[in-house]
Amino acid sequence: MSEQRNPNQPQRRRRKPRRPKWVTNKFTYTLWRNWPLIRFVLVCLLLLSLALSLVTCSARAIGKLFKGDDQPSESTPAVSGPAETTVPPETTEPEPEPDELMRRADELAMGYDYDGAIDLLSTSSYYSANSKYQDRVKQYEADSQKLVKWDDMQNITHVFFHTLVVDNERCFDGDYREDGYNLYMTTIPEFLKMMESMYERGYVLVSPYDVAYEYVDENGQTRMKYGEIWLPEGKTPFVMSQDDVNYYGYMIGDIDPDFERPAVPHADGDGFAHKIIIGEDGYPTCEYMDANGQIHVGSYDLVPILEDFIREHPDFSYRGARAILGMTGYEGVFGYRTKPAYEDDLGTEAYQKECEDAKAVAQCLRDHGWILASHTYGHPSYGVISAEKVEADSDEWERTVQPIIGDCDIILYPNGSDIEGISKYTFDNPKFAALYADGYRYFYNVDSHVAWQQLGEDYFRGGRRNLDGYRMWHTPKKVADLFDVDEVFDPDRPTPVPSL
Ligand SMILES: [Zn+2]
Repeated sequence: MSEQRNPNQPQRRRRKPRRPKWVTNKFTYTLWRNWPLIRFVLVCLLLLSLALSLVTCSARAIGKLFKGDDQPSESTPAVSGPAETTVPPETTEPEPEPDELMRRADELAMGYDYDGAIDLLSTSSYYSANSKYQDRVKQYEADSQKLVKWDDMQNITHVFFHTLVVDNERCFDGDYREDGYNLYMTTIPEFLKMMESMYERGYVLVSPYDVAYEYVDENGQTRMKYGEIWLPEGKTPFVMSQDDVNYYGYMIGDIDPDFERPAVPHADGDGFAHKIIIGEDGYPTCEYMDANGQIHVGSYDLVPILEDFIREHPDFSYRGARAILGMTGYEGVFGYRTKPAYEDDLGTEAYQKECEDAKAVAQCLRDHGWILASHTYGHPSYGVISAEKVEADSDEWERTVQPIIGDCDIILYPNGSDIEGISKYTFDNPKFAALYADGYRYFYNVDSHVAWQQLGEDYFRGGRRNLDGYRMWHTPKKVADLFDVDEVFDPDRPTPVPSL
């Protein structure tokens, strides 16, 4: 191109323009004589940089299409990846406003993901011209230097809960179910006080996949190993789970001992939420029916309450970690009556709607960092029943629950009943062989110690601490590392809390 232009220059110069006054030396003379060429080069450079920025913008947009933007990829093992969703057609979303991008970066940094925060700002098109961004990146770099590697991976405490009590009056009303609730449930004020205390004491919620993860060794064998957790000095990682996120009929006022009818909530239920739904803001929330039969939407169980708490205290969650949720299958999941046998009762259309809604909730939960797990199909004690029965129960789960919530690699044993004593699992144990073949790699029982963990060659096993009425009343010292029972224990609880 420049060759075409050069022959023009003499033509132009033929007009012999007068030398301007600013041409006073050799340099300015050269500048003046060659001005058309210089101008041409400048225009070319400008066009080139425009084209380059266009290419990088579209590359970034394409990148966003194929890569989730806030899920740490290493914490999602291959076996438990969320069900694939199709990419909506118009997702070439423009880069967010500078303030919004900064807010997202700060959010990542508050969850100790400084690399993610730095990446977000430094690859943005605002970065080079925005000193606020550059300063913030320097700050993230400095803060990340203060992280220390957690050196006690073998002892990470794991706490668990059941459905939280919303209405103490209906829950502790003296009927035959009161004792069970008093033993195994936690009220909402108790849960909040526990979280406050743990937060103040420096606890940070981590994912079980941060604790240990599967990798392929040099011989091509899939193995399990401890992960790395990097937190500021004085912080302590912990894992959380919730069992029976099913909203059973007996709790919501529709008792059917054979679970043959799809349960619906009643005003004379025992004062619990009855389902998880997707809130208007896209976050998971709950539906709850009060004693007058009025339905409310809001934070009536652990999932939305913990979401609220983390929104208020982003430094309580390590890299977006949430709790593990364990579901059985015999009454459906999350309060949706998805058990296939309910199709007759509900009619095909209504049954399919239950399934679609439950699937959407499962995806919403996964999108927000919650980990979905099996709590077995029928809630039997796996340690007590035969290997054949374990296998049959696991098959039933795979047939009825897996299609709704997707693959799971975590199992939370009902009644804490483990399939083996404290010695390691081997494939000689037919129950382990069956569960391993069904895709399970993380196995959790119940244990009152601060931590109990076992890293096998190809699995991880851990104990979980029940933070409920039984634990607080009978062995308060066993939770003294987490909170002071005197400050947490709900005065509405009937005492003494019964023994097991
Ligand atoms: Zn259970």
